[in-house]
Amino acid sequence: MSQGVLSMTEAFSRQLRGKGTRWWDLMSGQEAVMGLMDTASASSMVTDSAAASSAWGGGKRVPNGRINVDADGNHRESIGETLQKKGVRIGLVSTATITHATPAGFAATVPSRGQEHQIAEQYLNRVDVLLGGGSQFFKKQGRADRRDLAEEFAKAKYDVVGSRDELLRSRSKKILGTFSPGYLPYMVDYHRDKELQQRIPTLAEMAEAALSRFLHDEAPFLMQLEGARIDHAAHKNDIGAILHEQIAFDDAVSKVLQMVGERDEILVILTSDHGNANPALNGTGPGYRDTNEVFSRIARIKGSAESFMSQWNRSKKKDSTAMTELMESVYGFKPALPELQALMDRLGGRKVTEWSDQLSNPEGLLGQIVGNVTGTGWTGIVHTSDPTQLTALGPGSERFGGLVRNDLVHGKLLELLMG
Ligand SMILES: [Zn+2]
Repeated sequence: MSQGVLSMTEAFSRQLRGKGTRWWDLMSGQEAVMGLMDTASASSMVTDSAAASSAWGGGKRVPNGRINVDADGNHRESIGETLQKKGVRIGLVSTATITHATPAGFAATVPSRGQEHQIAEQYLNRVDVLLGGGSQFFKKQGRADRRDLAEEFAKAKYDVVGSRDELLRSRSKKILGTFSPGYLPYMVDYHRDKELQQRIPTLAEMAEAALSRFLHDEAPFLMQLEGARIDHAAHKNDIGAILHEQIAFDDAVSKVLQMVGERDEILVILTSDHGNANPALNGTGPGYRDTNEVFSRIARIKGSAESFMSQWNRSKKKDSTAMTELMESVYGFKPALPELQALMDRLGGRKVTEWSDQLSNPEGLLGQIVGNVTGTGWTGIVHTSDPTQLTALGPGSERFGGLVRNDLVHGKLLELLMG
C-alpha cells in the first residue's frame, strides 16, 4: 500500500460514511509511534511480497520470488517455526490465499512463492489459526499428490471451516478456515452481492475470530493480518476497489484495537510490505477548485476493474455502444470518444498511443480513463521502492519509530516475544 492510499481512504471514508479511518486517527494522536518501513530485497530496489515477507519473517533480505531462501540458497527458519518451538502461538489471516507470499514469509520456507501446496503442508501444527482464501491447496482434488490436507488438519484438532456461518459458530482453539478456492472477492463487488456476503466473512470478522483465539490464552502470540487485495487493486490501477479494500482493512484495525483495549502487554504494528503503483489525487481545475467534486465521483463506482473486464469478456455485443453502456453502469460516466477508441483498440489487441509501457496495458488505460473523471493517477501497474507508513502502539512500539529497514523487524519481534 502506497502512502497515497491512506490519505485518499481517509477522505473517501468521510464522504462515504461520515467518519474517518482508525489508522488516520492513530496517526493524529500522541499515543502511537510513527515511522517508515524501508523496503527493498536482495535482488532489487523494488521488493515483491515474497522477499518483503521473508525480511520480516526470516530476518534477511532474499531475492524476489523466494520464501526465506537467501541469495546463496540457504534455507532459513521462519519466525513462526522459531516461535512455535518456544510455545508462542501463531496466527495468519489474509484476503489472498492463506498460502500466498505474505502469510507464507511468517511460517514457511520454500525456494519459490508459487509452491503453495508445500506452504500449506508446513503450516500444519506450526500455525494455530489460518483464515483466508486458498481452499484448493488443502483439498485432495486441488493437489497433485492427492493428499487430503484438510483431513490431516482436522485430525490434528483444527476446526476446518469453509463458510462465514461455520467460522462464526466455531469455538475451537485451532482453526483452518478457507472461504474460496483462490482469493477472497474485492469488497466493491462483495457489497453488491448477497450470496458472497452470506458465504464469505469480512476481514474484520476474520480478525475477530482469529484474535479471540489468542486474547484469552496464557501463551504469547504473533498474529499477522493482511488486507492483501489492496495490492491487487493497485496492480489493476483500480481506484474504486483499492479504497474499498483499504476501508475493509481499517475496519479490521478498529476491531483489533477495540478487542485489545487496555491490555498493555500487546503490541500492534500497522504497516505495508511495499508501495504499489503510487496512486494519488491530482489537483483538478483552475486553482484546483474542482478537486473535491471529481474525487467524490469515486463513490459512484459499482464494481472492480476485474468484474468490469469479466463482464466485457462475457458480453456478446462488443461494439462501442456496448462498451459505453458497460462503463456507465460500472463507473457512472460515459468515456470520451478518443478514450473509448483507445480502450476498444487495446482490448482488441491493437497498439495505442501511450508512451508509458506500463500504462499502455488495458488496466493502465482503464485506470487513466477513470482517472480523467476522478482526478486520480498512477505511476505504473507494479510495486515501487518508496518507504511505507509504519505505526506502532503498545509495549516496544518505540523500536518502530523513524526509518526501519524491513529485515530488522524480525529481530525486534523476537526480542519482544522471547526477551
Ligand atoms: Zn503486488
